[in-house]
Amino acid sequence: MGAPQPFTSTADIGHWIAGARSVGAAGAGGRTQTVWNPATGQAARRVLLGSEADVTAAVAAAKAAQPAWADTPPIRRARVINAFLALLNQHRDEIAAMITAEHGKVFTDAQGEVMRGIDIVEFACGIPQLLKGDYTDQVSTGIDNWTLRQPLGVVAGITPFNFPCMVPCWMFPVALACGNAFILKPSERDPSPALFMAELLKRAGLPDGLFSVVQGDKVVVDALLTHPDVKAVSFVGSTPIAQYIYETGAHHGKRVQALGGAKNHMVVMPDADLDQAVDALIGAGYGSAGERCMAISVAVLVGDVGDRIVPMLAERAKALKVKNGMELDAEMGPIVTREARDRIEGYIALGVQEGATLVVDGRGCQVPGHEGGFFTGGTLFDHVTPAMRIYKEEIFGPVLACVRAKDFAEAVQLINDHEFGNGVSCFTSDGGVAREFARRIQVGMVGINVPIPVPMAWHGFGGWKRSLFGDMHAYGEEGVRFYTKQKSVMQRWPDSIGKGAEFAMPVAK
Ligand code: NAD
Repeated sequence: MGAPQPFTSTADIGHWIAGARSVGAAGAGGRTQTVWNPATGQAARRVLLGSEADVTAAVAAAKAAQPAWADTPPIRRARVINAFLALLNQHRDEIAAMITAEHGKVFTDAQGEVMRGIDIVEFACGIPQLLKGDYTDQVSTGIDNWTLRQPLGVVAGITPFNFPCMVPCWMFPVALACGNAFILKPSERDPSPALFMAELLKRAGLPDGLFSVVQGDKVVVDALLTHPDVKAVSFVGSTPIAQYIYETGAHHGKRVQALGGAKNHMVVMPDADLDQAVDALIGAGYGSAGERCMAISVAVLVGDVGDRIVPMLAERAKALKVKNGMELDAEMGPIVTREARDRIEGYIALGVQEGATLVVDGRGCQVPGHEGGFFTGGTLFDHVTPAMRIYKEEIFGPVLACVRAKDFAEAVQLINDHEFGNGVSCFTSDGGVAREFARRIQVGMVGINVPIPVPMAWHGFGGWKRSLFGDMHAYGEEGVRFYTKQKSVMQRWPDSIGKGAEFAMPVAK
């Protein structure tokens, strides 16, 4: 592969409302926030922060456009999504470069993110099949009953910084295919891919108003959560905000799915292939600098595994290639912002204070030519205990904590006692142990010899416990259910109508 083209635009990033770029009600003089290039530590561009008036404008455009879209046959809606799919494929690398420029993750990982977003768009192209209802002929003589699913109307998505393309794609392709209008509030830290995807949707033939992007912060989020015409909110982000979104949205009568934070464990059993386990832990612990909700942040080392594997992990963690993500041999890029880097390094200091063994210290990492970048290296702790804050809390950085467990039962109990339940993994060569693990573990997404078990587009994504507030997972058939409401129709025709009113509960005749 040749060198990818970096994303270098310095233009302000605004909104997309009613099918066009917009600077919003406040104009260019309104509130803005700096978008950083985390690899250099320099301000790269600014994002406009929207207001309640911008949400009002986006909802009005959505509400005006949605009824005709809901009436458009699903197969024709699918064709628009299919045209969008072709454009996404055409512009994959441009989007990946935007992600690397604003998030910092390495370009190849950003390409993978775009592909996983594309998976959901492909899934949404099958909407005619997914919306097929149930039909019962002759529930009583001359009467039929069927169910169908209809769109909710105007729905919104609020997304995190760590997957600025993939996580929005968990939501809007399915919501639009189901016949809704969608308003996206992307992360203010990496807002460019959302705006670009809005342009691609327009080029794909999506009527104006059906997809809007309102950039911003809590002001925009609160306006969406309280707007009476927003019928459902999908959220992905940290647990405290997920809980706030769930409670506030529900209070205002909305359907809400709010996916939160994580602390994902990987159990290594004594019979596991240790070379495979090391590869898995290094990739899943340090990939995307640990800024993945499915990153492995705790290695649960069972029996004698700890003494055997920690030196292997240490050697690999020290050798990680930490570089500007646009360099194709980079394994780990910078952290998204200076504040996030400082928070992560603060947790490393805390771990030392709490008495964990600091095996590899990633603090103070310098990347030649990028001295101002927000870099930290891979950090490895051993002898971490469940009482420590570095075990309990989500660090969201390249910090892997090793916990020792005496046996399988203790490993399972440890994980089941944790407040988060997003993803988990078990490395073993024993099928019986693997089966028992998958059945007993209180976590939403389970990997057996797979470190990051992100479900495919048609299976749906979601954690348990404080990793998800709401009833339905993202995308897959759960996504279709989330963005539609069921209607049951019971029908008979005049020639089958009996004589007079019925006062007893109708039963099959
Ligand atoms: P975040 O919670 O800070 O922000 C998420 C979104 O909420 C952003 O759009 C942000 O603008 C908005 N927001 C932030 N503070 C708010 C407030 N006080 N009121 C209203 N809205 C607010 O999360 P982040 O730092 O962007 O992303 C990282 C977090 O997301 C991690 O905790 C990670 O585990 C989680 N995450 C979870 C999943 C999942 O599927 N469970 C996936 C990706 C990321």
